Amino acid sequence: MATPPPDPQAETHEVSPPYEIEKLRIEEWAEGYDPQADLEAISFDNTEVAFRYKSDADLRKSLLLFNSIKYKSLVKIGPPLVSLALDLRLPVRGLINSYFFNQFCAGTSLETSIPRIEQLWQYGVGSILDYAVEAQKSEVGYNACLEQVLAAIEFARHREEVSYIAVKLTGLGSFAILEKAQQTGGELHGYDKIQYDHLVERLETLCQAAANAGQAILVDAEESWIQDTIDRIVEQMMARYNKERAIVYTTVQMYRHDRLDYLKELFLGMRRRHVIPAVKLVRGAYLEKENARAHQLKYPTPLNTTKAATDQLFNEAALYILERLDKFAVCAGTHNEESCRLMVQYTRDHKIAPDHPHLVFSQLYGMSDHLTFNLSQYGFRTAKYLPYGPLEAVLPYLFRRAQENSSIAGQSGRELTLIQKELHRRRRSAALKPDSYQLGHVPV
Ligand SMILES: Cc1cc2nc3c(=O)[nH]c(=O)nc-3n(C[C@H](O)[C@H](O)[C@H](O)COP(=O)(O)OP(=O)(O)OC[C@H]3O[C@@H](n4cnc5c(N)ncnc54)[C@H](O)[C@@H]3O)c2cc1C
Repeated sequence: MATPPPDPQAETHEVSPPYEIEKLRIEEWAEGYDPQADLEAISFDNTEVAFRYKSDADLRKSLLLFNSIKYKSLVKIGPPLVSLALDLRLPVRGLINSYFFNQFCAGTSLETSIPRIEQLWQYGVGSILDYAVEAQKSEVGYNACLEQVLAAIEFARHREEVSYIAVKLTGLGSFAILEKAQQTGGELHGYDKIQYDHLVERLETLCQAAANAGQAILVDAEESWIQDTIDRIVEQMMARYNKERAIVYTTVQMYRHDRLDYLKELFLGMRRRHVIPAVKLVRGAYLEKENARAHQLKYPTPLNTTKAATDQLFNEAALYILERLDKFAVCAGTHNEESCRLMVQYTRDHKIAPDHPHLVFSQLYGMSDHLTFNLSQYGFRTAKYLPYGPLEAVLPYLFRRAQENSSIAGQSGRELTLIQKELHRRRRSAALKPDSYQLGHVPV
């Protein structure tokens, strides 16, 4: 008998295993579609919605912060000054907490983060818990990080307001070992192999705990010279834990020009194994470092050479996933309005309910509230990436946020404009309230 020609659409015709949970959710998704929503124009400009969880005092602090970090020189000298002041035990903690830490972090521990988590949830915004301590350097440090993330999974077990737990592999094991594994194609021996195995075991422990607790876990993407190793490890976990639902998410950085192909291979490879692929889709955070290293070691940069190319790839990747949303889960980690608008438009055009269980939008805490809260208002599942940890330990995270806001063209400007607009709106609406028109009161 002649073999039939290969079916180019085979991936969409494949026979799916009986995923009862998934089926149930897909039915809910169809029912949840609201045709009325199509009539509303997509806009993220509603600052009343965006900032309703912030008091006037909070907004003024944000205004001061974003005004300061638009000065590159301040962002450059700030980190050493702050570190020195803390080392010298100068009384600056209150100031840093109030104007910097509280802007981007939820608290110093899980317990102190609870008010923020609950406050966001009041507006339908979930939380992604991120123990924001940066790369560790010892087995003791890796185990301590493991314990912290396990505690977060346990904490989240009975909290519907926590959507996901985030983890960085360089918090669970050595950067150098990940790099060596990449250079040797995984051929490690002796102590190197032991360290590598421990790292994998730690992630496995977390994935198992997340699966038991019914939580999902997002593994961050890092530098390209360790990312292939991270990909292999996370794919292994995904294949093990995503049989019935999306538990393990890998992260794909679309500033890399090879990532759309990777995303497609990931999808096909996982589907062949009847696994639900799940990704956090981002543009990528290590642009300058990647390009500098490629230049220094004289190899072609793995990144796109223009922002427009990155935008194009991000959007293509987002559409590729949305076209397969019943079998592909995505957390869109982006502050880019156009990408969010495109994704919202796609769901409308294809009658996908905004609260589809495979779709969530996420922005970092302290940034782009206009996207998070307006998307939530439209009925989309949204979650803030919520870092927490002791002040000294999260400083590198805070400095990166300051740098990002000063270096991404327009980011701090965009935040500033929105905050100013909201403060102005509040002043005007307070002035228009009847009790403001008391004798002698002059509205401003
Ligand atoms: C929830 C969440 C989770 C995240 N997790 C990760 C993670 O795990 N790993 C990680 O690396 N990043 C992560 N990020 C950061 C992310 O990768 C981006 O750095 C950041 O969100 C800014 O990109 P944007 O999509 O918001 O949009 P924009 O502000 O529109 O885009 C800025 C981004 O475009 C790209 N870009 C800028 N200029 C150029 C250029 N000249 N050429 C090519 N590309 C350019 C860079 O990636 C830059 O960060 C996360 C972000 C969020 C919101």
